[in-house]
Amino acid sequence: MDLSRFARRRYTLGATPLEFLPNFTRALDGPNVWIKRDDMLGLTPGGNKTRKLEFLVADALAKGADTLVTCGAPQSNHCRATLSAAVKEGLKCRFVIEERVANSYKQDASGNNFLFRLMGVEAVTVVPGGSSMVDAMNRVVDELAASGRKGYVIPGGGSNAIGGLGYVACAQELQQQFFEHGVRIDRIVVGSGSSGTHGGLLAGFLGNRIDIPILGIGVSRDPADQDPLVLNEAQAVANLLGLDMQVPREAVVTFGEYWRPKYSVPNARMVEAVQMLARTEAVLLDPVYTGKVMAGLIGLSRNGTLRKGENVLFIHTGGMPSVHAYEAELLGNVPVPD
Ligand SMILES: *Cc1c(COP(=O)(O)O)cnc(C)c1O
Repeated sequence: MDLSRFARRRYTLGATPLEFLPNFTRALDGPNVWIKRDDMLGLTPGGNKTRKLEFLVADALAKGADTLVTCGAPQSNHCRATLSAAVKEGLKCRFVIEERVANSYKQDASGNNFLFRLMGVEAVTVVPGGSSMVDAMNRVVDELAASGRKGYVIPGGGSNAIGGLGYVACAQELQQQFFEHGVRIDRIVVGSGSSGTHGGLLAGFLGNRIDIPILGIGVSRDPADQDPLVLNEAQAVANLLGLDMQVPREAVVTFGEYWRPKYSVPNARMVEAVQMLARTEAVLLDPVYTGKVMAGLIGLSRNGTLRKGENVLFIHTGGMPSVHAYEAELLGNVPVPD
């Protein structure tokens, strides 16, 4: 598919590596595990939001915006990546932070919060969990307009049709890499949150006729709530691409449970997964997303859903900075729920 018809900024030079994980594969004693290093994308540091922002920021610039307005949780990778893109483009940036866990936003916290301050976010509005993010962001845009400025709203996680194009581009990059490596991937495991990554990848696979099942691991919802989000996102991206197709309901597969007890709250399986990858491959996972997604891959291998001998690709979506906000948990120095 020709993506060159969509405006795009470029924040990464070349493709991210596709690698086999021999030591982890041996330790797991299940499928052969490959990794797509989207933690090595550009912006400070990279992660899946970088791919979405390449298209979203290009759209903001085309519309004459001077300020990016977005939202997220207190340790939001998406907010940090958006701020990073704004800095590069000479734009201002404002956040609406949703306290999904009460009193969890600490202005002087480490991890992404530290980077918010270091890179110079212009303003942060903190709202209670369950608030309308769209309303809160529109109020920020109104304030900017009152002083003659122009805000551009990027939805949570950068997940709309334009942002999803970033993972259509990733699908095409993967297609080329599978060919170059001569590897036949049987299944893909990816984190599923605001769903731009999972939904964009699915639309890209369907559009390019890449016939590899995608298993999403919910990072904040079980399948009954997550699947419709992914289906909507994939359909919105397919429509923007002009694919003229109905995304099949059965193409959307997610697994719940691994995110519990709550979004962003550590659990024992996550700690095991982060330690296992660090100690077998020196690859760093994050506690909020990729640690729980890898716990899903490990769990699905142990229960036989992913079988010995098949090639499974894990998409590393980044999230590095929040590791430092959870050091004691990741070293096993404080108890965490199962
Ligand atoms: C945002 C994020 C995800 C989830 O991706 P969505 O596109 O929101 O579903 C996964 N991993 C990391 C590290 C993230 O920051």
